Parts: sequence; C-alpha cells; structure tokens
Amino acid sequence: MSEPAPAATPKRERRRVREMGVVVARVRRETADTTSLYLVGDEPFEYEAGHFCTIDPHQFPVLKHFIAHLEDVKGSREKPRAYSLGSAPHEDHLLITIKEEVYASGETPYPPLLSPLLTHHTPVGARLVISGFTGAYVIPPDAAGRVDRVVHVCAGSGIVPNLGLIKSSLHRGDPFRHILLFSNKTRQDVIYYEEFEELRRRHPDQVEVIHCLTREEPSGIPGARRGRITKELLQEMIPDPSRTLAFTCGPGITPHERKAARDQGEEPTPRFVENMVVLLHEVGLDRKQVKEESWG
Ligand SMILES: Cc1cc2nc3c(=O)[nH]c(=O)nc-3n(C[C@H](O)[C@H](O)[C@H](O)COP(=O)(O)OP(=O)(O)OC[C@H]3O[C@@H](n4cnc5c(N)ncnc54)[C@H](O)[C@@H]3O)c2cc1C
Repeated sequence: MSEPAPAATPKRERRRVREMGVVVARVRRETADTTSLYLVGDEPFEYEAGHFCTIDPHQFPVLKHFIAHLEDVKGSREKPRAYSLGSAPHEDHLLITIKEEVYASGETPYPPLLSPLLTHHTPVGARLVISGFTGAYVIPPDAAGRVDRVVHVCAGSGIVPNLGLIKSSLHRGDPFRHILLFSNKTRQDVIYYEEFEELRRRHPDQVEVIHCLTREEPSGIPGARRGRITKELLQEMIPDPSRTLAFTCGPGITPHERKAARDQGEEPTPRFVENMVVLLHEVGLDRKQVKEESWG
C-alpha cells in the first residue's frame, strides 16, 4: 500500500497589490485644506485596517504639462503617491483623506503635484485608478491575548489610518481600550472630529479621545489639553506598558530631508513621529510595541 500523500502545508495568503478602477461617491470637506473622498468599486476591496493605496499622478490629463516639467527639472519619473485608508474592511466604501501640500517660496523646492487636485478638484463621479493594498501599520493578529490598551498618538492627517484601525477593532470586538491622543494647532484643523465624538458616545468604555491643541485654548472640547503631547501625558495614559500597543502617525523626516542631512554630514531634525517614538520608548514600550507611519 502506498503512503498517503502528506497534507499540503497551508500557504500564507499573499495579497497581490493590483490596480483597480474606483469612482468618487462622496466628497466631504474636513478642514480648509483637507478633503475626504469616499470611493466605491465594482469588486469588494480586500485590505486590512491601516493599509494604504497609491495613486499615480500620470492618470490625470490636467497634470500632463506640470508632470512633464517636474520630470525634466528633477530628472526622474514622478512616483505614485500613497494615501492611507481611513475606512475599515467591513465598510462598503474606501475612505481616503487628502491634505493639500503648499508651495512656500524659498522653503520648498517644487510645488506640490497631486494633493491640490485631490483636495480641491475631484468631484463626485470622478473616476480614479488606485493600486493597493499594502502596509505594516496594522494590529497584529495575536494582539488580543497580550494587550489590553492601544494608544494612538497622531498629528494632523496622521489620524487617517488610525480611524480605520479603531473602527475595525471595535467592529471585530477586540478586548482593547483605544486611547487617541490627537495633536493639532487649532480646533479648526481637527479632521474627523464628529466621527470620534460618535465613536466615543457609542463605545464609552472602549474609546477615549484627548485633543491636544498647540495654538489655542481648547474651549468646549471635553477632556482636551493645551499644548503638545508630552511624556507626562503618555505616562498618564499608559499605566501598564507591558499590556500596551502604540501607533504613531503624522509628520516625519522625509526622504528629501534625510538625503539633504546626509549630504551635509548631519543628522536630520526629528519631527513629530520620531519625537513620539522616543517618548514612547522612554515610558517603557519596546520597539515591537510601537508601530509608526509618517509623511512630510
Ligand atoms: C504610507 C503613506 C501614507 C500617506 N497617507 C496620506 C494621507 O492619508 N493623507 C495625505 O494627505 N497624505 C498622505 N501621504 C502623503 C502623500 O503620499 C503625498 O506625499 C502628499 O499628498 C503630497 O503629494 P503631492 O504630489 O501633492 O506633493 P509632492 O509633489 O510630492 O511634493 C510634496 C513636498 O515635497 C517637496 N518635494 C518634492 N520633490 C522633492 C525633491 N525631489 N526634493 C525636495 N523636496 C521635494 C515639494 O516641494 C513639496 O513641498 C502618505 C504618504 C505615505 C508614505
């Protein structure tokens, strides 16, 4: 009798990044310089909360001459831009939220290419090609057994993937308390304010939101603080570092800044995410307990 064939080793599911056509189903202005686009497609979107997609600027005929000029001046092809997903996999749309970058004369070498178009000139019904989905800014599958608190340390548009992470975790019924520390200059700059108020109302035992405003007194915002996110605030919110996972997202050192510093033989100046990672380590979290994502 011949030996039975060994059982096939289950292959780890590998999600391929692929292009897909989507349509803008809803546009919502978040702040003066930030817009959310709700995207729908013909097929279900397969992603994990916290993933990002990319959008290639070459698909927009209106940018054709601008791209050609930038590629001549920079001597390289303009790359697709990444946008985090603010939606969660159980929702029937994709949510991306774009903050318009600015051109500051004498400070930024080139004007921004794609974000002004997506922020101000992408109406309901517009068709886009996106690629996705990927990223490491996700809650690990084994977190439920070892963690009881997830702390989200965000600034500005860095809130986007964290909204997806929190909605998805609540939907799954994870046994975590989510604490969001959200830094902005003023109340007018806060993205998703109402979403988080709603999450806090619906899940009072699981969602805590602390707005930190750096340029004005936070009047009328429950539990808000004046000033930056400090080590003391992190210590207060992380009573047991061994049972905590942290996600930090916001401005970070850009590849351009890293290269410029290297060319000068200097260290690049740390920005929000690098500063928060240091503070999270100082309050007792190790490298494996801190996930970070940043953009300029
Ligand atoms: C993982 C990830 C997720 C992201 N998620 C979001 C999100 O949810 N929302 C969001 O708004 N953004 C997000 N971003 C940022 C986004 O990908 C774009 O970088 C942003 O929208 C700006 O694109 P742009 O084409 O308008 O500007 P760009 O043309 O890329 O220019 C941006 C700035 O960089 C400068 N610059 C460009 N090229 C050079 C160069 N060669 N040397 C020096 N400086 C240069 C420009 O002068 C300008 O100030 C994310 C980025 C990453 C990596």
